[in-house]
Parts: sequence; C-alpha cells; structure tokens
Amino acid sequence: MSDPATWRSLAAAVPASFGMWDGGDWAEAAGFETLALRDPWTGNDFTRVPSASAADVDRVVKKATDTFESGSWSRILPQERGRVLLAWADLIDTHADELAVLVSREMGKPVRDAREIEIATTARMLRWYGELADKLMDESPRGLTDSLALVTREPVGVVAAITPWNFPLSLAMLKIAPALMAGNSLVLKPALQTSASSLRLAELSSLAGLPDGVFHVVTGRGATVGTALTRHRAVACVTFTGSTEVGLRLLGDSAVSNGKTVWLELGGKSPNIVFADAPDLDAAIATAVWAFTFNTGQMCTAGSRLYVEESVYDQVLEGVCAGAERLAVGDPLDPGTDLGPLSSRGQCDTVLDYIASGLDSGATLRSGGAQPLDATRPLVAPAVFTGTDTSMQVAREEIFGPVVCVQPFRDESEALRLANDTDFGLAASVWTRDVSRIHRMARGLDVGNVWVNSYEEGVPATPFGGRKLSGNVSDKGSYAVDKYTHLKHTWISL
Ligand code: NAD
Repeated sequence: MSDPATWRSLAAAVPASFGMWDGGDWAEAAGFETLALRDPWTGNDFTRVPSASAADVDRVVKKATDTFESGSWSRILPQERGRVLLAWADLIDTHADELAVLVSREMGKPVRDAREIEIATTARMLRWYGELADKLMDESPRGLTDSLALVTREPVGVVAAITPWNFPLSLAMLKIAPALMAGNSLVLKPALQTSASSLRLAELSSLAGLPDGVFHVVTGRGATVGTALTRHRAVACVTFTGSTEVGLRLLGDSAVSNGKTVWLELGGKSPNIVFADAPDLDAAIATAVWAFTFNTGQMCTAGSRLYVEESVYDQVLEGVCAGAERLAVGDPLDPGTDLGPLSSRGQCDTVLDYIASGLDSGATLRSGGAQPLDATRPLVAPAVFTGTDTSMQVAREEIFGPVVCVQPFRDESEALRLANDTDFGLAASVWTRDVSRIHRMARGLDVGNVWVNSYEEGVPATPFGGRKLSGNVSDKGSYAVDKYTHLKHTWISL
C-alpha cells in the first residue's frame, strides 16, 4: 500500500483497549489498572493495556505450568507442533498490514519498514522453526557393545521471554518460535509501549490452533512484571533481549530465586570499518548511512562507530553526511518516510543529551543538529560526529539514536585495536577486497557477528548473538533450540 490515507484509516481502527492474553483468553489485571500506550508521532495516547502485578504473573505461570504438565502441547508429535506454527505464520502474513500499523503507532517505525521487514521477518522466523520441528534428531554414541547410551533433549517447562520495543515482534518471535517448537509453554513480557502488537500476535496463535494455556502475554511495567517472572520458581528459564543494565539485573533476580538460566541478548556499540580497498566505496558509504540511521538508530547492531582508512576518510565522511541529509524524516504512516520519530520523548531527550555530551567533550558535529527538528515531536536529524576518540561517552556508550562517530585509522592493526576497544561485543562490519585481511579481521574482532562488505545480513539458520556486555548466547537457527531444552543422558545396560 503506497497511500498514506489507507494506512491512516487502519491506524484509526486500533481498538481503544486490549486485555492480557492468558493462553487463549483475554484477561484483566487483578487490580484492573491499565496503562496508556502513546503514539510518538501524534503525541496522543491511542490504546490501553492491563498493568499486571506479581499476583497476575503467578496466576499465568501456574496455568502455563499446568498446560506443560498436561502434555497437550509438550507431548504431541513434533510435526503437529510444526503444523500449528506454520498456520500461525500464514495468519501473520494475512494480517501483516494491521500488525505493521500497530507497531508503527507504538514506536514510530516507518510503516513501510514495519510491513516489509519487521512483520515479514516475524513470519519468516516462525515458518523456519515450524519446518524444523520434525527434523531434529537425538543421538546415541556408536560402538558400545553391551550397553546403549541415549542423549536426548527435553523441553525445559515454562519459558519467560522479556523483550524490547525496537523490533517488537521479530525479536519476540526469535524466542517464541524455538521455545514452542521444542514443546515448552511460554510467557511473553513485551516492552510496555509495544504491548498491543504482541497481544494481537498472540490472538492469532489461537486462531492457528495453538492449544489453550501454552502461550501467554503479560503486560505492564518492566520492573514489576519482569522481576516477578525472573524471580518465579516455576519459571525454568528466562530469555531476554534488552539493555545491558536490565539484563545484568535479571542475573541477580535469578540468583535469589531458583538459579534459572538467564539468556541475554544485550546492547552494542558496533564498529563499521572501511578500508580504502573496499570493493565498492559508494556501497560502503550508502550502507554506513543505513547502518546508523535504520530504525532511527534504535538498533542493537547500529553501526555507530565508523572507522575509515585515512586515504579515503574525506570522501567517505562527505558521502555519509550527504547521504544522511538526503533521508526523508517524518510521518511513519507515510510510506515514503525513511526515518520516523524516536520512540518517545524520553528517548529523544537521551539522544540529544548524548549529542550535547559529544559537543562538550570537544567533538565536532558535521551534520545533524543538537536540537529536535520539530518542537512538538521527538524527531532528530541524523548526527555525524568527527574528532571523537574511544574515551568519549558519545563514542563508548550505546545511544540508541541516529548518531555516528567517524574516525580515521592508519592501518589494519590500528583499525582492529579501535574496533575492539569497547565493553560490547555484538557485531562488526569490514569493507575490503583483500581476502587475507578479511580472515585476519574476522578472527581478530571480538564480536558475535562479522559482516564483510555488507551489514546486518543473515538467514534464519545463522546464529545471532553477542559477547562481553552484549550477551551470553545466540538466537536463531537450530542453536537457539538448545536454550529451551534440557540435555538428558540415559545409560542402558543390555
Ligand atoms: P530495556 O532493557 O529497557 O527493556 C527490555 C525489556 O525489559 C522490556 O520488556 C522491559 O519492560 C523489561 N524491563 C525493564 N526493566 C526491567 C526490570 N527492572 N526487570 C525486568 N524487566 C525489565 O530495553 P529496551 O529499551 O526495551 O530496548 C533497547 C535495548 O535493547 C538496547 O540496549 C538494545 O541494544 C537492546 N537490544 C538488543 C538486541 C540484541 O539482540 N542483542 C536486540 C534489540 C535490542
């Protein structure tokens, strides 16, 4: 759909309130308190969701546990689970416009990206796991003469998924799909501001035939619901995507309850490294712009540190500034928009504070401004800094906005040293045509994902995860299934 009016009429049709999704039924919070979701573009509250308490979490976890133990999902044939996941993926495709509008209103994502990337990826990931369901094998070592050893995998029980708002459905699905495929029950705690899209996604799961009690969505404040889930003794594992600060706190919540595993996908400050021998410098420049501005820079993998070999530094800097200035910034419901608003006023203030701190520490703003583009909306022009070094806050900390620090380097060893001089270890990109250098850099970069002559690439089969303060595990692929299954060894003397 290319007509903004059509998207606006869909946006106007969003229900005024949602219930919580209690595994097949709508439910109110025990105290009947609700919270408003605010559209960052209009500045208006557009719907409400229940504000759950620890008592609500307890009730939902009990239902998820009972369902798990009943075997209605955990013990049916894997291909039957796969069939339900595939039907759910089809429904997501059918309802893609409606889901895209919800995401767009919740956090300001341009509706074009919401439809073509966010919702499409959500369905694609779910379909991949649906197809995988009956293709996994257990193992048995060869050569034992009078014994048989079985190495099998079993679902862990109730999984709690706590997820962020920046890619609300696709990142949640990276957890929901492998966990449900493996036979677990799951309780999702979405970021408050993107609760409505998660609730609609959950409703579609019932239409696809997911048995009652398997999948729940508990909405409310992070500190209340997230803490209650992570401290709950009947929750077998927590799978989290979000900030490093909250992720580390969850480890403590687990430690004071049942020591459940807490899988963490956290923040980043990713280096994008351009050598003079990049196979296509124009492509490197265009991609560098995309890497720090896509989703208004609200991306864990944002290429927020751009290192450029000295001989092409001026050319790349000029191209990046020009490319950033060409982007269409504005109404997320206009399909021509490249960059929507930041997800909230608070997020906008954070980004502007970081820009001010860069200026205070002596860096130079080459493009973009230190003021919002519009006094009434959380809109900022992409900011390009030079004169930064890795000791500056603006170059060290995750900003979660369209801000890039561009810095020259002399040679490969300096590029590697700069790239690894960070507390994070999520991703990096390298642009060069030298095959030996590609391998040296890929080995030397202390990150979970390296993209060469590209950025943010992958397929459902490839893992995605970080190290250091970026996390402790990977989502995606068959690797993710390990997180949601226990390994069991059975030794049989024959
Ligand atoms: P956040 O940490 O504020 O919130 C994430 C989730 O945790 C939300 O559901 C929130 O309600 C909940 N939460 C908040 N406080 C909590 C608490 N005290 N106890 C338990 N749960 C709590 O993150 P965000 O602002 O929603 O998302 C942005 C962050 O997510 C960025 O740091 C970004 O890098 C990171 N992220 C990482 C990846 C990845 O794959 N590594 C992907 C996307 C986003």
